[in-house]
Amino acid sequence: MNATALLSERATGIDVSGIRRVFELAASLKDPINLSIGQPDFGVPEVMRRAAAEAIEAGKNGYTLTQGDELLRARTAEHLRSDLGWDVHPDLPPIDDPDRTSLMITSGTSGALLLAAMALLDPGDEVVIPDPYFVVYPNLAKMLSAKAVLCDTYPDFRMTAERVEPLLTDRTKYVLFNSPGNPTGVTPTGEECRELLDLCRERGVVLLSDEIYDEFVYADAVEDSPRGEPGRRCPSPARYDGAEDAVLLVRGFGKTYGCTGWRMGYAAGPGRIIREMGKLQQYSFVCAPSIAQAGCVAAFDADVSAHVADYQRRRDMALEILSPVTEVPSPGGAFYLFPKVPGRLGLTGTQLVEKAIERKVLCIPGAVFSSRDTNIRLSLSAPEPRLRRGLEILAELMAG
Ligand code: PMP
Repeated sequence: MNATALLSERATGIDVSGIRRVFELAASLKDPINLSIGQPDFGVPEVMRRAAAEAIEAGKNGYTLTQGDELLRARTAEHLRSDLGWDVHPDLPPIDDPDRTSLMITSGTSGALLLAAMALLDPGDEVVIPDPYFVVYPNLAKMLSAKAVLCDTYPDFRMTAERVEPLLTDRTKYVLFNSPGNPTGVTPTGEECRELLDLCRERGVVLLSDEIYDEFVYADAVEDSPRGEPGRRCPSPARYDGAEDAVLLVRGFGKTYGCTGWRMGYAAGPGRIIREMGKLQQYSFVCAPSIAQAGCVAAFDADVSAHVADYQRRRDMALEILSPVTEVPSPGGAFYLFPKVPGRLGLTGTQLVEKAIERKVLCIPGAVFSSRDTNIRLSLSAPEPRLRRGLEILAELMAG
């Protein structure tokens, strides 16, 4: 059999993630300072670990409903009510009320992004994504023979209505918004969110808001909720009137609670879209992992604010070390930084990463996340003394 001849263009048209290549290099270096990691370095809260372990012992090892465990859906709906003021029904919408705002549990945030893309994109359709972007976004479009239209957000990494508007066409199905953003950590203002929501509503396109880092927001990036929910929160287009009709909200548990391997996320929004995503999940993932779902019921009782405050201190340290030598927009959340390679060096992001690797510091070239190769992505997910050392080496390299 000639297996190569049998492969689909869908598979062969996609490159191995550039992040994986750095992982492979990391494996060959002895004791590198690894600033390439996309997950936090703290453990899963005890309440969640206990709930997952108890679920195994209690025999909850079979399938759940496709849309997810009933208790987890109820807790998630309750959370969306108190966080966003959304009136979400915790079940797939019935035939006689297809527009009811609904939610479903997915296999990771990536699972929700894939199901959304499958539910919305036909070949030739368009989705507007930020540049720089999370690596999955353009590849999802490619896998579905659709087109990812890049919205250039350099140098401040803000995906504003003004930047998105000229990119909308009659083939646009959705605009993909990501805040706090990967790879930049940048968060928008409430006003920017509202303007983008208004634009999408006016043009009749879905605003898919990937908020996987929504709980991972620093104290100086939060705002009062426009609908009056108590507490200060990360700005989101989902917080404004009319959002339930236009916003497809995608969130996850992996980053906030240090359980990326549990593969847990959820999607909420217009019932007609959620219902189609549920159908597609039935014939693909079937359901999210049952044990992880049981563990995530406890997530809403876990407090990770001390971890977020710790990362805010790491961010401040990183800005203090790098700002004197280069341009680096201050992240409002997540745990990344996306500094520019100073023009005076005459190097691309990839070339700077090669020099960093010679000094045993691993980070990722901006080209992995972008049509440009002018920046590098750093993760703050390394123990403090090593993080400081790694940043100092990068600052030395950037000073030239
Ligand atoms: N969206 C963004 C912006 C991400 O950074 C990631 C993970 N790096 C995901 C989605 C996917 O997350 P998950 O592990 O829940 O599939």
